[in-house]
Amino acid sequence: MNQPKRYLITSALPYANGLKHIGHLAGAYIPADIYARYLRQQKRDVVFVCGSDEHGTAIPIQAMKEGTTAQAIIDKYHPIIEQNFKDLGIEFDIYHRTSSPLHHETAQEFFTALNNKGDLEIKETEQFYDEATSTFLADRFIKGTCPNCGYDNAYGDQCEKCGKSLSPEELINPVSTLSGNAPIKKATKHWYLPLNRHEDFLLEWVLKEHKDDWRANVVGQVKSWIDGGLQPRAVTRDLDWGVSLPNEAGKVLYVWFDAPIGYISATKQWALNNGKDWKPYWYNEDTKLVHFIGKDNIVFHAIIFPVMLKLHGNILPSNVPSNEFMNLEGDKMSTSRGWSIEMDDYINDWIKPENGGGQMADALRYYLTAIAPETKDSEFTWKGFHTSYKSELSDILGNFVNRTFVLMHKLCNGKVPVFHNDIIDDDDKQLINDIKTAKQKVEDNLEEYKFRDGLFEVIDLARKGNQYLQKKEPWKRKAIDGKYSTEDQQHIDNCIHLCLQLTANLSILINPFLPFTAKKMLYMMKVVERMLDWENAGSVTLLKVGYSLRAPELLFRKIEDAEIEIQIEKLKAKSLKTKENKVEETTQHTEHQIPVIKPEIVFDDFAKIDLRVGTILSAEKVEKADKLLKLEVDLGFEKRTIVSGIAMHFKSEEIIGKQVTVVCNLAPRKMRGIESNGMILMAEDKAGKLHFVNPDHKIDEGSGVS
Ligand SMILES: [Zn+2]
Repeated sequence: MNQPKRYLITSALPYANGLKHIGHLAGAYIPADIYARYLRQQKRDVVFVCGSDEHGTAIPIQAMKEGTTAQAIIDKYHPIIEQNFKDLGIEFDIYHRTSSPLHHETAQEFFTALNNKGDLEIKETEQFYDEATSTFLADRFIKGTCPNCGYDNAYGDQCEKCGKSLSPEELINPVSTLSGNAPIKKATKHWYLPLNRHEDFLLEWVLKEHKDDWRANVVGQVKSWIDGGLQPRAVTRDLDWGVSLPNEAGKVLYVWFDAPIGYISATKQWALNNGKDWKPYWYNEDTKLVHFIGKDNIVFHAIIFPVMLKLHGNILPSNVPSNEFMNLEGDKMSTSRGWSIEMDDYINDWIKPENGGGQMADALRYYLTAIAPETKDSEFTWKGFHTSYKSELSDILGNFVNRTFVLMHKLCNGKVPVFHNDIIDDDDKQLINDIKTAKQKVEDNLEEYKFRDGLFEVIDLARKGNQYLQKKEPWKRKAIDGKYSTEDQQHIDNCIHLCLQLTANLSILINPFLPFTAKKMLYMMKVVERMLDWENAGSVTLLKVGYSLRAPELLFRKIEDAEIEIQIEKLKAKSLKTKENKVEETTQHTEHQIPVIKPEIVFDDFAKIDLRVGTILSAEKVEKADKLLKLEVDLGFEKRTIVSGIAMHFKSEEIIGKQVTVVCNLAPRKMRGIESNGMILMAEDKAGKLHFVNPDHKIDEGSGVS
C-alpha cells in the first residue's frame, strides 16, 4: 500500500452535558492520541481533531430541569472537558465546538448539497404542536398521564415511574411542558436520509473491502444492521436548539447528522488558525481518515456518516477502530448511577504537582492501554491499576532507567562512557539486536491499531534491559584505590553505554503512550525533543560519548496501599450517594423500574442462546466482592463454575439445591480472578429484589429451555 500523504484522525465528539469518565477516555481518546503522537514522531502530515457535541434535545431538557439555559450548560462543560483532556496528555490539534458559527455554516452547506442533489427524501407527518409558543413538541416536551400505571407526569417517550416506553399519542390528557396547554396535531414535513438505497455500497465497502482489516466488532455490527434492513432516517426535527435548517423556521438538523460534520468544521477551524488548506484532508484520496470511537458509535461512523460522506463527495474512513466497553470493579461504568471515575476526579486526586504531576496522567494512560477493551469488554479495578503500576511501570521501566543513571554517575563520572568494540560480547550483540528490532515490532502493532500489544513491546524492551544489567552486574567489579583495572572499566563502560542508548530508545518508543514520562527522560538525558523523531529508534549512537547527563530522578513515585483504599471507598460512597439522591428525587414512586422493552429480534437471534436447567451444588462468597457469589452448578452433562452478582439477595446456604436456568454458551468471563462459565437467569421485582427463574417442579439437569 502506498504511504498516505496526510492523516486525519478524529475522536468521537463528547456530549457537552456533563463530566466524562475514564471508560470514555479508554475508548476513543487515548488510542487516538497514541496513534497521532506516533505519526507526528514519524514527521507525517497529521491533524487530530475533536470537540464538543453541543446539540440535541437532552441539553435543553437538562437546562429546563436545572433552571438554566442550554447555552449555559455547554459553556460550563466544554472548557472543563477540554482541560481534562489536556491534563491527561490528549493532544488534539484542535478541540472545537459544534455551537460555533463555522460549524453551523458547514452543516447547513452539507445538508443543502445533499438536498439539492435529491439524496434526501421529504415526508409529511402529523405531530404535536403547542399553539401558545408556536412550536412542534419533541416527545420529551409533552407530559401526561401514563396509560399503563396512571402516573400523571409521564413523558411523551417514556413513563419514568413504570418504565414503559410510550409515544405521545398514548398519553392521557397530554400537555406541553412549555406552556402547560394541551397540544394540537399539526402537519409537519421532515427530511430523511434513505439509508436503504445504500445497502449495496455498504455491503461492498465494509463487508468485502474491509472485512479483514477492520475490527471484527465493527464489521459484525455493520452486518447485523444490514441484515436487519436499513431504513430511511429522519435528518431534521422540530426544535429550536441545534443547527437551523436554511429557510425553514423552527427546524434543526438532527444531532446525529450534524455532530460528525463537526469533524469537518473542526478541520476547517484548524486550517484557519494555522494558515492551511483544509480541503485535501476531506477530499483527496491520498488522505488517510481514521475515526476512533466507542462501540455505541459504530452505526454512526461505519454506516451513516460514510453514506453522507459518499453522497457529499468526500473521502471515506480507512478505518474505524472501535473499542468494546470497559467495566469498573465488577459492574458497568455509569455516571448516572455514580459507578464511574470521572476524568475530572482522577485529575483532582492524582495529577497535582505534589502527587507527581504528569507521571500520574501516564499511570492512567498506561493502565487504560494495558487493559484496553480492543477485542472484548475489560475491567478497571483499583487493585489492578496499582499492580500494573508497581510491577510493570515502576519495577520494569522506572527501575531500569533509574539503575542506569545511578550506575552511570557512580561508575562513569556522570558521562556517557565510550563503547569498546574490541571486547563486544554476545550479550551486547543480543541487546543491540533487541534495540534494533523493537522499533519494527512497535510500529507493526500501531499500524494495525493494536495499542496494547505495542505498549507491551516497549515494556518488554525495558525488561530486556534489566536482564542485561542483571547479567553484566557492573557493580560487582572491584575498584582498588578508587580505580578499576582497565579491563574492568572497559566492561563497565560497554554495559553502561548500551544501557544509556537503550534508555534513549525507550524514550522514543514510549512517547506515544506515556508522553510525560518521555519528556522527563529527555530532561534527564539533557537532549532536545528532536531526539524523539521516530527514525532515531533502533540506533545505538543516540547519546554522544563524553556527554554529561543529569542526576537520576524517579520516573514513577511509590503509590501506597492506603491511596488505593481511599479510591475504592470513594467509589462506593459516590455510588451510594447517587442512589440516595435518586430515591429522594423519586419519593412519590419508589418502586423499582420495570425495564423498557428492547428492540425486536428474530427467532434466529433467540435460538443462539443455549438455556439449560441446572442445580446449584455449592455457593460461596467471593473475597472482597460484596455482590458476588461463586456457584458450582450441575448441568447434568458437566459441572460449571459460575460467578453471579446475587450475594446481596441470597445467603449462600439457602440456595444450595435450588434449580436455576443457565445461559450455558455465554463466553467465559473472569471476575475477581475467577472464570465464570455461564449466567444464571434472574427476575427483578418492583422492589429491586432478585428471584430465580426455574421450572415449577424439579426436572433433570441439562434439560433445554426454549
Ligand atoms: Zn407508567
